[in-house]
Amino acid sequence: MGQDSISIYPDWNVSSKIVASTSTRGGGISTSPYDSLNFAEHVGDNDLNVKKNIELYTAQFNSALRWQWLNQIHGVETKEVTQVSKPINADGLLTREAGLVCCVLTADCLPVFFAAQDGSEIAIAHAGWRGLAAGILKNTLDKFSVPVEEVSVWLGPAIGFCHFEVGTEVKELFVSQADSMAEKMEIQQCFSAVKNSQKHMADLAAIAKLKLANLGLHQVSGGSHCTYCNSRDFYSFRRDGTTGRMLNIIYIDPDSS
Ligand SMILES: [Zn+2]
Repeated sequence: MGQDSISIYPDWNVSSKIVASTSTRGGGISTSPYDSLNFAEHVGDNDLNVKKNIELYTAQFNSALRWQWLNQIHGVETKEVTQVSKPINADGLLTREAGLVCCVLTADCLPVFFAAQDGSEIAIAHAGWRGLAAGILKNTLDKFSVPVEEVSVWLGPAIGFCHFEVGTEVKELFVSQADSMAEKMEIQQCFSAVKNSQKHMADLAAIAKLKLANLGLHQVSGGSHCTYCNSRDFYSFRRDGTTGRMLNIIYIDPDSS
């Protein structure tokens, strides 16, 4: 199992101390519909297969790394961690400790990777539309000690504008959060009406970019992989219902600090 063949890496301008990636679904041992590199135990897969997948995957990395897992609850809380513990009930993690791997599982929701450009702080958030609307990006950014201009973001694989259909109430919720007419117009451009229905296609990555820009964060890359479009590489909850989860990780390399 080669790390290069199974992960997607960010294109961002941050210190080489920072390591980040999203796994793809190949290279594990889970069977259909979880085939094959599923990291989630709560989705109906065999727990032993999930444990084996985690073992196989983590074995490729420096054995000194400590892996911090989450129990994601579609909430808005990001927790700062200084040492590894049992899975934390939250949807985001921030750390300044080298070697502490912050893990988020996704299958359509947007994984948002944050890094201080100097490599001193990192964070990751699990952002579905609920989390975006409720302020998980702000909550995460607020925990950084460096100024916002010194933080970069990479948006990992998530369901794209091409496939993410939502009801009018979702669009209205985001529009109602706009502080100005200009912002209202910008948020409206993140949605496109579906003909002959009350539905809209929503651009999660564009909504995230807009929310980040409003917080003063403009160094954003990524957002180009649609999980629904690419069934070879990605799990997609909207596409498949019962399915696995990809692992999104970020850490400060302990060997380069
Ligand atoms: Zn798509």
